[in-house]
Amino acid sequence: MRTKLERIRADIEALAAFNATPGEGLTRLSFTEEHRKAAQYITEQMQQAGLAVRTDAVGTIIGRMEGTDPAAPVVMCGSHFDSVKNGGNFDGPAGVITGLETARVLHENGVVPKHPIEFIAMIEEEGARFGAGLFGSRAMTGRLGEQELATFTDPDGITTGQAMRAFGLDPAHYADAVRKKGEIKNFIELHIEQGPILENSGDAVGIVETVVGIKEVEVTVTGRPDHAGTTPMDMRADAFLVAAKTAIAANEAAVAVGEGTVATVGKLEVRPGSFNIVPGKVVFYVDIRSKSTDCIEAVLAAVTAKLNELTAGNGALSYALRMMVETKPVQADPHVCDLLAESAEKLGLTSRRMLSGAGHDAMIMADITNIGLVFVPSRGGRSHCPEEWTDYDLLQNGIETVCETVQRLACE
Ligand SMILES: [Zn+2]
Repeated sequence: MRTKLERIRADIEALAAFNATPGEGLTRLSFTEEHRKAAQYITEQMQQAGLAVRTDAVGTIIGRMEGTDPAAPVVMCGSHFDSVKNGGNFDGPAGVITGLETARVLHENGVVPKHPIEFIAMIEEEGARFGAGLFGSRAMTGRLGEQELATFTDPDGITTGQAMRAFGLDPAHYADAVRKKGEIKNFIELHIEQGPILENSGDAVGIVETVVGIKEVEVTVTGRPDHAGTTPMDMRADAFLVAAKTAIAANEAAVAVGEGTVATVGKLEVRPGSFNIVPGKVVFYVDIRSKSTDCIEAVLAAVTAKLNELTAGNGALSYALRMMVETKPVQADPHVCDLLAESAEKLGLTSRRMLSGAGHDAMIMADITNIGLVFVPSRGGRSHCPEEWTDYDLLQNGIETVCETVQRLACE
């Protein structure tokens, strides 16, 4: 392999040290001191790899390698380096380091690509500080608005715009980060899988063909709070019972439609929330994900049908739906997927085609370019927790595959 395991390890360990909660997982929120120090490390590493480094209007670090045809569209490679609260060292940094190591290998080997290559490190992908997430990629694809910068706040009431200003960025210039369609040839991102599939199958790399679509629906069920001891079972309007049966219906519908469709009720609030009162109101969330829009709609239809059935005939029971998140499935570029598979094979690595059940910056970048998304195994499938781990040699397999693929994309 041309990539070096010791450098990969050093990068992961160096970035892991820029952490607001040592000993309790990695916390590196956007526009903080930890962010600033990590950005400085990434910038220095990019410069040492011979890249021309700049920071775009919202804080994405871009290290550029010129091509023989400077006007040719850019091959872009990278990920994000912010984290969730008390997360792990790999979600995001693995993909940023993939860019750093690829740049070093091409630099050392004197590769001069035809297309310019930009290695990037984005922030606020997790939305852990301001709530929205995918910030750098949304800024790059024109999906970021002035209103968000002025109104989205962190728990201390600081707006995104204020935090940017304190960090040395001018929020008024956010639109300068936008890249035009045709300007970027490909966007390649490596990410840890955050699930158990690769570890179970034993494959070295996952090549994502589809990033699932998501519908997240807020359901409010209104019933009637009554005394839990004195109200007979047939005279209740129990909002929790409706929610519980609907959650089961969502689960069964996802299993029934198949195609990898998943449905989850992960948040539920029971009011008034007392052991001796029949629940009068419940607010819960149904998160539905699938590669097929039809499957998502089928699960949602089953949820609605169940709610109708459970509230019909009891005047005291009603429900309301509110759509919180709605994204369509996104396809990776078939040509990039083929090149990734060929690169893995050439390196003697096994690969498998798979779905991504989580959203990543690559999903947003698909708006303006042809994307490739590569997964490496996560130990125990764990992520967004201090135990998040990928063995360095397993990470190197993915990095080597991306390195090979980026070189081929930039030279074709
Ligand atoms: Zn991530």
